Amino acid sequence: MNKIETIADMIVQSKQTVVFTGAGHSTESGIPDLRSPGGIWDRFDPDEFSYQKFLSSEESREKYWEFSKSLWPALDGAKPNPGHYAITELHQLGKLDCVITQNIDDLHQKSGVPEEKVIELHGTTKWVICLECGRRYPREEIYSRLQAGEKVPRCDTCHGIMKPATIAFGQPMPEKETREAQRRSATCGLFLVAGSSLVVYPAAQMPLIAKHNGAKLVIINLTPTPHDAYADIVIQGKTGEMLPQIVEQVKAKLKA
Ligand SMILES: [Zn+2]
Repeated sequence: MNKIETIADMIVQSKQTVVFTGAGHSTESGIPDLRSPGGIWDRFDPDEFSYQKFLSSEESREKYWEFSKSLWPALDGAKPNPGHYAITELHQLGKLDCVITQNIDDLHQKSGVPEEKVIELHGTTKWVICLECGRRYPREEIYSRLQAGEKVPRCDTCHGIMKPATIAFGQPMPEKETREAQRRSATCGLFLVAGSSLVVYPAAQMPLIAKHNGAKLVIINLTPTPHDAYADIVIQGKTGEMLPQIVEQVKAKLKA
């Protein structure tokens, strides 16, 4: 049996399958992997955009928004790729417990996975949040304000500092999402990594939590990861190509 078929078997047999996605899963949707060589952090200093800097001065906030504005059109126009739709099919087949994602691009939701099944560990680009009163604004609304010349948008309600609802360097991880991701990882039967290099913590600890609690671990990524040794199966390849093949096999097996 080849690897694709073995993974399909694991999905069919597992009661709870958790899919964990990272930047590699969205590169095929045209979203740049910020951390890859030649990526944005080779051109910008990530330290300039840390949470601490953002809170500390109006000048830093202006820089942050300028940077954020330059990324927005690519994010806003991005469409789900075949890898996303393959995961949506797993959901439709009743074979998906949840998606835990390091991505902020909203593409799992856009591809039809219900909101409540997507756990976003690094926040979302869909909203801007007031750090003072917690009011949420649609990103497009704030983007229009920036386009109209506003440099550092402030909350209409309380005049507080606003920030995209993504997790910046140095910003605490969202508590509720992190706890939920840990819980789902600990209780699943199969943990499938799709397009993550598993180097960013605490997100990267999820597959290990799954493995330590008895789950099977599958890793699909273009390059080797530090957790490959713990995996039952490793495939080096594009998730947009591998996942649809796996899901085809799952469908065939469910029909048989
Ligand atoms: Zn406010």
